[in-house]
Amino acid sequence: MSNMPIFKDEVIVIKSINYKEADKILTVIGKSYGKFPLIAKGIRKIESKNRGNIQTLSVSQISFYRNKGMGVLLETSNVFSPDYSSSNLKGIERILSLLNKCVEEGCEPCDFYNKLYFVLCNGFKDEDVNKFRLSFLKNMGLLPHSTCSICGSSDCIDYVNLENFEIFCKKCYLNSNITDDSVLIRSCDVDYLSQNLTNYIDLYVQKNLF
Ligand SMILES: [Zn+2]
Repeated sequence: MSNMPIFKDEVIVIKSINYKEADKILTVIGKSYGKFPLIAKGIRKIESKNRGNIQTLSVSQISFYRNKGMGVLLETSNVFSPDYSSSNLKGIERILSLLNKCVEEGCEPCDFYNKLYFVLCNGFKDEDVNKFRLSFLKNMGLLPHSTCSICGSSDCIDYVNLENFEIFCKKCYLNSNITDDSVLIRSCDVDYLSQNLTNYIDLYVQKNLF
C-alpha cells in the first residue's frame, strides 16, 4: 500500500453495512469523486479514531487509497454530524432511497453535492426535500423532458401536471380537458411545503424508479 496513490475528498455517507468482525462497507457521495464504495477497516473497534465520523449522513474530509475498485479509508476529519433527534426522518428516508437507487457508481462529480449538503444541515425539512428531489430527478433525466409534452414547444411552458410531472405550454393547457386544477397547476404555484406535493413525488418515484 505504500506505493498507492492517496486520494482526498469530502464525502457524505449514504449507506453503511457491517462487514466481517470490525469493518464496515460504506457507500459515499464525494464532492470530487461522486458515488463510490469505501471499506472502513477496523472501524467498529472501540479505539477506532474514525468511528464517530462515518455514520450514515455524516460529512467528513477523508483520505483513502483504491484497491480493486473499492476505496479503502485511511483518515477522517468530521465536517458535520446530523442530529437525528431533530431531523425529519421521513425526509431522510426519501432522500437516501433516491440516492442509493439512482446515482450510479463513478458518476461525474455531482453537482447535487452542495444541494444535498444544504438539505442535510437544515434537518431534511419537507420543503427542502421536495425541492431537492425534483431538481435531482430533473438533472438525472428522470423527469419528462422540459418542453411542452403536447406540442413540444419550449415557449411559455408554465404548467405542470403533478401526477406525472409533464409540463405544458399555456396554449395546450387552455385546450386540455384536464379539469382537475389541483393536478394541473402553474409551475410558479407549486407549493414545496405541501403534503400533497410530497405525496405526488413519492408516487412518481415509486412508479417510475422502483
Ligand atoms: Zn404546447
